[in-house]
Amino acid sequence: MARTDAVVLGAGIVGTSIALHLVKAGLSVALVDRRGPGEETSYGNAGIIEGHTVFPPAFPQNFGALLRVALKQAPEANYHWNALLQVAPWLWSFRAASRPERLIETAQMVRPFFNQALPEHENLMAESGAARYLRRDGWLKLYRRDASFTALRRELDVASGFGLPFETLDTAQALAREPSLRPVFRHAVLWPGVGTLTNPLAVTRAYAERFSDLGGITLTGNAHTLHRSGSRWRLDTAEGALDADHAVVALGPWAPDVLKPLGIDLPMTVKRGYHRHFRATGNAGLTHTILDAEVGYCLAPMEQGIRLTTGAEFARRDAPPTPVQFDRLMPQAAALFPLGAPVEDQPWMGSRPCFADSRPVIGRAPGQSGLWLAVGHAHWGLTLGPATGRLIAEMMTGKPTFVDPMPYAAERFLKSA
Ligand SMILES: Cc1cc2nc3c(=O)[nH]c(=O)nc-3n(C[C@H](O)[C@H](O)[C@H](O)COP(=O)(O)OP(=O)(O)OC[C@H]3O[C@@H](n4cnc5c(N)ncnc54)[C@H](O)[C@@H]3O)c2cc1C
Repeated sequence: MARTDAVVLGAGIVGTSIALHLVKAGLSVALVDRRGPGEETSYGNAGIIEGHTVFPPAFPQNFGALLRVALKQAPEANYHWNALLQVAPWLWSFRAASRPERLIETAQMVRPFFNQALPEHENLMAESGAARYLRRDGWLKLYRRDASFTALRRELDVASGFGLPFETLDTAQALAREPSLRPVFRHAVLWPGVGTLTNPLAVTRAYAERFSDLGGITLTGNAHTLHRSGSRWRLDTAEGALDADHAVVALGPWAPDVLKPLGIDLPMTVKRGYHRHFRATGNAGLTHTILDAEVGYCLAPMEQGIRLTTGAEFARRDAPPTPVQFDRLMPQAAALFPLGAPVEDQPWMGSRPCFADSRPVIGRAPGQSGLWLAVGHAHWGLTLGPATGRLIAEMMTGKPTFVDPMPYAAERFLKSA
């Protein structure tokens, strides 16, 4: 019977970063997944380390936008009818969390954590040899309508209050930065402090290799086999049973499958998202990752091509893919940038694990000693993976934490239950 101080379930960017921080803190650690590190949600994201994000995505604020989503005409969102009943309570809470004063409250609450997002990645990248995947050109957000840009004022004021750098650009100034774009937008905001990755999978793999180099054990196993064994946690792996004093659930969108049987029922839903790589035509290219804000997609220059990532799809996690948002947005994307042939036959699909208050759950699991949670990182799992790893390691080893962990405690849901 193998035994470690800690077992981390899930080798996405979150679990891998946790495992690496734990081993650096001097613990014996096993990292368990049914696949290779970083091959699920952490593979397919837009590669943006969004430490300078101010407001989380919000529920549509005007009736027109809501109607377009309801009528399945919006490129930025889609839904499945058979998921609506299940997702309705979550949407109700999300709507409440999208009120202007709540957005400011959330922005202030999470700022200390997000401030550390990029520095924590840089630390792990430096020791893992992954710095070559990081670009420091920033994130360029485009606005096609004056009204959308005007509506940004409050967010930009909050950003200024936080001391976050940004530049507002007109069309010509933005085109000077990205000459391959076409002038279909009227305004842009450049966030120069945002890091972007050219290959998110390679970064998670580099962190996993660093974990192994430091003595961490990587195992194949099914997290569903997790159960109590005396005062410890036991898991069946391909190499036999493993006992650990601490178990960390970092299973992204699959966390409820393991937590619900243990009596931990968190109000998490998934926002599914797709990506597809495209070649650029001729000599066209991108230096920055681009958000076409009103249309709701990103263009991210990656090693595989220009990765176009879509917004949210509310559907059952395991329902077959329905990448209809591509049909709705491709004409506008092609008008913005000369996209060529797709690289893959079919789009990739993943699921963002989301809480309605846009905060992950990080910390001890209520009522289960030795069990830890690092779930629900929503749109910021890549962003916050390394910072989450540091926080969990500090909490588990009883060190002072670099940020107040209270905003991320699971108890916030139990209290309101
Ligand atoms: C289209 C899209 C774009 C995005 N863009 C960004 C972005 O630009 N920036 C950003 O910060 N975030 C972005 N995100 C969100 C980000 O990708 C996720 O928040 C993040 O990947 C979640 O990481 P994770 O480690 O929690 O989950 P995952 O990467 O999904 O890892 C969970 C792991 O658990 C394993 N697992 C599941 N079940 C079992 C089991 N039974 N037994 C063993 N192992 C199991 C899986 O194999 C997987 O490896 C995006 C997401 C999508 C879908």
